[in-house]
Amino acid sequence: MSKNEGFNFCFDKSACKTCKGKCCIGEGYVFLTKGDIEDISKFLTIEKEAFLRLYTRKVNGKTALIDLVVKNEIRCVFLDDNYRCEIYAKRPKQCKSFPFWESLKNRSLDDVRKLCPGIVSCS
Ligand code: SF4
Repeated sequence: MSKNEGFNFCFDKSACKTCKGKCCIGEGYVFLTKGDIEDISKFLTIEKEAFLRLYTRKVNGKTALIDLVVKNEIRCVFLDDNYRCEIYAKRPKQCKSFPFWESLKNRSLDDVRKLCPGIVSCS
C-alpha cells in the first residue's frame, strides 16, 4: 500500500487487477511532459512527430493524449480491449502519479473513492 504526505488516503495497487481501467475511462485529459513524449515515441518505435500526430491533441496549449469512443465509452487511446495499458512501462507521469494529484489532495476519502477502488483509508 502506498501513501503520500498530505493526502487523506492511501493507494492499494492490487485493486488494479480487477478494476478494468476506471482511471483510464471517462472524460478528462492525460497531459504529457516532454519526457513522456520522448519515452512513449521510443517505446512505440515511431518518430516523435508521428506520435504527436497520431496520438495527441492540443488542449489549452498543452499536449494531451487523444480518446477513443468504444461502445459508448470514452477511453484513453492506449487502453486495450482487456483494459490494460498498452504503454504501461512508459505510461505518462500523470498516470504514474495517480491518485496522488494536487487536485485530489483536499478531497474527502468518500469523494475520491468514487474515482478508484484502490483508494483506501490509511488506517
Ligand atoms: S496512458 Fe495508460 S495508464 Fe494512462 S490513461 Fe492511458 S491507458 Fe491509462
